[in-house]
Amino acid sequence: MMTEIELQNLVKQVSISYFNLTFQHKASFNRRLKTTGGRYLLQTHNLEFNPSMSDLPEFIGIIKHELVHYHLHIANKGYQHRDLDFKQLLQRVAGLRYAPKLSDSKKHYRLWLYRCQNQHSVYRQRRFNTANYRCVKCGERFNFIGQVNHE
Ligand SMILES: [Zn+2]
Ligand SMILES: [Zn+2]
Repeated sequence: MMTEIELQNLVKQVSISYFNLTFQHKASFNRRLKTTGGRYLLQTHNLEFNPSMSDLPEFIGIIKHELVHYHLHIANKGYQHRDLDFKQLLQRVAGLRYAPKLSDSKKHYRLWLYRCQNQHSVYRQRRFNTANYRCVKCGERFNFIGQVNHE
């Protein structure tokens, strides 16, 4: 998780490297953003970003997207999604059209791993009592191994 100072610096850096323009307003995190990656505030020209997306590899793309709104609005050009200016500039800087879905990045889930005395592995979402079950492959008892990440 990055700090707001790091966020501010990152937005400035992306703005210079991809747009060749300086970002002169404020970038901050907003915890209330749930499904969107970020937003541009027309009144203040500030940008807000979803803190839960800041660790994603797509986060730079989210910053680019919001900077497209920002720079076009300041330049008095078409800054909305439907505008040609927006589509062209977004394509030029290769920004994300939409925020990535959070569920896609949370593919990993936790499972309980058991192994019988002949090393047959079994993964279960819930724990079970090893006294009550036997391995279907060999009929031996299970040992509880622990919690593992599974794709
Ligand atoms: Zn947008
Ligand atoms: Zn077995």
